[in-house]
Amino acid sequence: MNVGFIGLGIMGSRMAANLLKAGHDLTVHNRTKEKAEELLERGATWAASPAAVVQEVDILITMLAHPEAVEETALGDEGFLVTMREGQLWVDSSTLNPSFSKRMAKEANARGIRFLDAPVSGTKAPAESGDLTFFVGGSEEDVSRAQPLFEAMGKATKHVGDNGMGTSLKVVVNHMLATSMAAFAEGVAFGEGLGLSQEVLFDTLIGGPLVPAFMGAKREKLEAGDYTPDFPLKWMQKDMQMVATAAYDAGVPMPLANLTKELYQAAVRRGHGDEDFSAIYEDMKED
Ligand code: NAP
Repeated sequence: MNVGFIGLGIMGSRMAANLLKAGHDLTVHNRTKEKAEELLERGATWAASPAAVVQEVDILITMLAHPEAVEETALGDEGFLVTMREGQLWVDSSTLNPSFSKRMAKEANARGIRFLDAPVSGTKAPAESGDLTFFVGGSEEDVSRAQPLFEAMGKATKHVGDNGMGTSLKVVVNHMLATSMAAFAEGVAFGEGLGLSQEVLFDTLIGGPLVPAFMGAKREKLEAGDYTPDFPLKWMQKDMQMVATAAYDAGVPMPLANLTKELYQAAVRRGHGDEDFSAIYEDMKED
């Protein structure tokens, strides 16, 4: 298939590499061109602007940081929605608030362009190994059309409803991820403050019933004080803003989410934004 890909950061670069591996023809664009070099060496074609990516493609995938990045890339001066043709399909895998996804669906549909919100569950390693899970909102027909691409990049596709429902499920999942990491960090910092060793605390908590399974994969890096990002903390703070916006739209009170959002914001202010979101632990130890 002829596929376009915009947004070659931690996640997008790896997802695009898996599309190439599966034999798809790939045209790519990224704000910072250097991040595309490896894909270009492997056979991808460079497009000089978002608008230029979409000329020949059947499906365009975007994997961008936040709503502002998506809006600029889609509807800015050289935005792809301006040049996309009727019948082409835009799959947006960025983590965004559902009302924004619905607005992008409307913008696309008004031009005869199909739209799926298809954010992913899984981080850098599953993006690399092609083991992501896609949470998809949109029509059955469009999901079937994109399924070969989801299969190349992921291990599962959950079609959860109309446009906006993929991002709805994603904000629920990331709410749990952010709050459980913050609770773990505070619990360990508390234990250390009482004089317990990190080893005793990790041995007792990680792998036990109180702490989510994903902490097992974080243990080694936490022990080494290694916060190189799998998932940058600043994007977790952004995701909690997506949670807060979605909750406001739905009229659901989210006191824990809003408190957690501010904990991550404070950590960004203290210089942890480009580190992994597990650096919330380091931030709490410093407090
Ligand atoms: P990342 O490495 O920071 O990549 C962000 C991408 O967005 C880059 O391509 C960046 O371009 C682009 N971008 C940022 N601001 C832009 C702007 N104003 N205009 C145009 N492009 C812009 O982040 P990531 O970890 O890959 O995350 C991408 C998305 O996936 C986010 O929505 C994130 O929440 C979500 N996500 C991440 C993970 C994870 O574990 N990392 C897991 C699931 C979902 P440049 O290269 O030029 O900066």
